[in-house]
Amino acid sequence: MSDKDSLLLILDLDETLIHASSTELGRPADFMLFGYYIYQRPYLKEFLTSCSQYFKLAIWSSASDDYVVEVAKRIVPASIPLEFVWGRSRCTYCFNNLAFEESGHANYHSHYDYLKVLKKVRRYGYDLNKVLIVDDTPAKSKRNYGNAIYPEEYTGQPHDSELLLLLAYLMQLKDTTNVRSIEKRDWRNRIDLLKERGM
Ligand SMILES: [Mg+2]
Repeated sequence: MSDKDSLLLILDLDETLIHASSTELGRPADFMLFGYYIYQRPYLKEFLTSCSQYFKLAIWSSASDDYVVEVAKRIVPASIPLEFVWGRSRCTYCFNNLAFEESGHANYHSHYDYLKVLKKVRRYGYDLNKVLIVDDTPAKSKRNYGNAIYPEEYTGQPHDSELLLLLAYLMQLKDTTNVRSIEKRDWRNRIDLLKERGM
């Protein structure tokens, strides 16, 4: 079990831990929720179980609060404690200039977005030097630059090993005293295990 000095690891849901599809993807879904076919990312249970031994865990998604609570209940084993499970009501709705710039043009008004702002986590007493946030969408975490790790998005493909890579990387960070002092862009190339294997 993680101890009180462990880092807090905040995980996104959609396209990070699961994929919710309005249609079935050629194979049965892991479960259905609110009319969606929910596909868990491969190795999800192993990932959560291993992480829970070294990190405090929390879920934060910009989806609706009731969806987030139900998904968390279904995918996180009951034996794993969560610090919090937050949905859209904890996000900050504002103009997202990063998404606007990435699109290169366009409809100004379509770039309002629900962002995760870690100041809200700090208010609950967490030291932001000891908080990591994992999100497949950099734009949603753009204000958390020094705390964020961006995995590839998961869109339901049956073969995907991103969570194993991420776990290997997180294991390297688990005893860090200040996550913000560590460069996390290009994190795949910073996994020692993979370097040793020449991958
Ligand atoms: Mg996402």
